[in-house]
Amino acid sequence: MKFKKAIDLSKLSFETKRDINFFIKEKFQDSTEFTQSQISKIEDIAKSLEEGYPRDYLIGNSEFYGRKYFVDQRVLIPRPETEVLIDILKSLNLADGSILCDLGTGSGCIGISLAMLNENFIVFGTDISEDAIRVARKNNLTYKKKNFFLIQSNWASCFQKDSIDCIISNPPYLDKDDYHLADLKYEPISALVSNLYGLEAFEIISQQAKQLLKKGGYLIFEHGFDQSEDVEKIIYKNDLKLIRKIKDLSGNDRAILVQK
Ligand code: GLN
Repeated sequence: MKFKKAIDLSKLSFETKRDINFFIKEKFQDSTEFTQSQISKIEDIAKSLEEGYPRDYLIGNSEFYGRKYFVDQRVLIPRPETEVLIDILKSLNLADGSILCDLGTGSGCIGISLAMLNENFIVFGTDISEDAIRVARKNNLTYKKKNFFLIQSNWASCFQKDSIDCIISNPPYLDKDDYHLADLKYEPISALVSNLYGLEAFEIISQQAKQLLKKGGYLIFEHGFDQSEDVEKIIYKNDLKLIRKIKDLSGNDRAILVQK
């Protein structure tokens, strides 16, 4: 049966139509003929999308830095703006053998992307969530990076003093009352929300960075579009040096590069 004959697309929102087409491309390789059970499946998908369930969870993967990662409700869906963290790291031209830590690795997409940049980097991905570690492990089984290691840990608390060349993190940074949360209700709250008006993770990681980075080592954060000044204050409070601020595609300060 032809899909367009079987389903009334006119009642669906523009976004749902777009995502349904994407879903069909991914799951049915663009075929135009469908069985009745496939049509029912697509109808269910359309319903979930209309209710705001994220497309990437329905498809079971998401794209980050040009590669696909398995995702489900145990981890945050990678955001395009987070790719800037990889570009910042690249610009540092770190030496072979550098030790990099992706704190709050979630799906593992940042850590695995870093491990791909140079097979002589040693990259650790930590997450306090065992569920997230399982998802990241599944992704690393796909990419088989022998230089990417997963550790269940509270941020960087598993590392020794003066041992890390670069800490990189997209931690949870939304305030618990942030209105954006209304649209993010299917993603893990622990990956989105942080205490102290969304700033607690930056406080904890900055304190750890001061202790655990080698002298001259780097810290790279993604932060909220309006948190640049607050994060800068946290950096100074922890006696770290601001190197530069980086904007996202919408022109908001979105990331910060810091040095010990
Ligand atoms: N950037 C995400 C969003 O606004 C939030 C993720 C995070 O807190 N790190 O959807």
